[in-house]
Amino acid sequence: MATVDLKDVKKVYPSGFEAVKGVSIAVPDKELCVLVGPSGCGKSTLLRMIAGLETISSGTVAIDGKIVNSIGPTERDIAMVFQNYALYPHMKVYDNMAYGLRNRGTPKDEIDSRVRATAKVLELSALLDRRPRELSGGQRQRVAMGRAIVRNPRVFLFDEPLSNLDAKLRGQMRVEIKNLQRSLGVTSVYVTHDQLEAMTLADILVVMNAGLVEQMGAPLDIYEKPASTFVASFIGAPPMNLLPLSQGPAGPALADGKTIEFAPANAVTLGFRPEDADVTFGAGAPSGALILPAMVEAAEPVGAESFLHCAAGGNRIVVRVAGRATAKPGDQLRVVAKAEKLHWFDGAGRRLLE
Ligand code: ATP
Repeated sequence: MATVDLKDVKKVYPSGFEAVKGVSIAVPDKELCVLVGPSGCGKSTLLRMIAGLETISSGTVAIDGKIVNSIGPTERDIAMVFQNYALYPHMKVYDNMAYGLRNRGTPKDEIDSRVRATAKVLELSALLDRRPRELSGGQRQRVAMGRAIVRNPRVFLFDEPLSNLDAKLRGQMRVEIKNLQRSLGVTSVYVTHDQLEAMTLADILVVMNAGLVEQMGAPLDIYEKPASTFVASFIGAPPMNLLPLSQGPAGPALADGKTIEFAPANAVTLGFRPEDADVTFGAGAPSGALILPAMVEAAEPVGAESFLHCAAGGNRIVVRVAGRATAKPGDQLRVVAKAEKLHWFDGAGRRLLE
């Protein structure tokens, strides 16, 4: 049983730079919390403060309800898995996994049974006599996981553990990590800048920007109801289309001056996801929908679907269509999005309406 609670955690580096500006997150027992955000948003700093590798300027970090601010990293009973694996190159896989236990003076027999049991779970049993250089990237990553698991810690921390792997392996390891975390039931905090990895792994997703939490919640809730234009454009690929609105005589209007009757009065930005629009070559105008005349600039087939990159009244938008796109560059068409699929944001970029 372990919970991780952060309360108004801040980090000011000696240079005076405030990398984390007051973050509160509660990770329930056995859940996987993913911190995601662009480079420099403070996610690694936050993880390192949980690990005890970085001092906490103010606020508290508690594990199982006990504040650990002044407790050293080794006493926090946390295991960390890094991007560069941090394996000892001259040691065999077995010894890499046994290292932490030996340091703690665990009896030899117990070390042996724990290492072998963990190796079995991770399908590393046949590789225990190899050295890291004799392993593939995925196998090395598994050894790094094994070294963390074998200690049976209360909390796992992952710092971009998959970013050195190629796309296919990353996808496989993502599933493995999720399954492993679930079956072991170890409370975890995972840092990544990859929004897809974040979406698929997280029980709780925390989107960070410039040292602050922009939004926190279940991944699909965040996808469906992004709290800000920042979140809307960070979560989802290709990102949500965001169009600026001006204030026309009869309410918010598009760049071509056309009023959108069903827009909230204070809407400054309109958003819709690439999959939430259809394209039509016809002239009929469905009521209660956004209709944008657009010109195709590029059609990008990716297999089961295609992305149409279009110019619409001075804006660039992307629409996802199923299968192969029949539209070609230069084609004029209309992009239609139902009113209930639209997102509205105010002048500060905050979401309007539910
Ligand atoms: P990335 O994905 O690039 O690793 P991140 O979100 O993990 O980014 P951090 O490493 O937490 O970001 O850094 C947050 C901010 O703090 C950055 O602007 C960084 O330049 C700054 N920073 C990090 N370490 C220090 C330090 N030791 N002294 C001063 N500033 C630092």
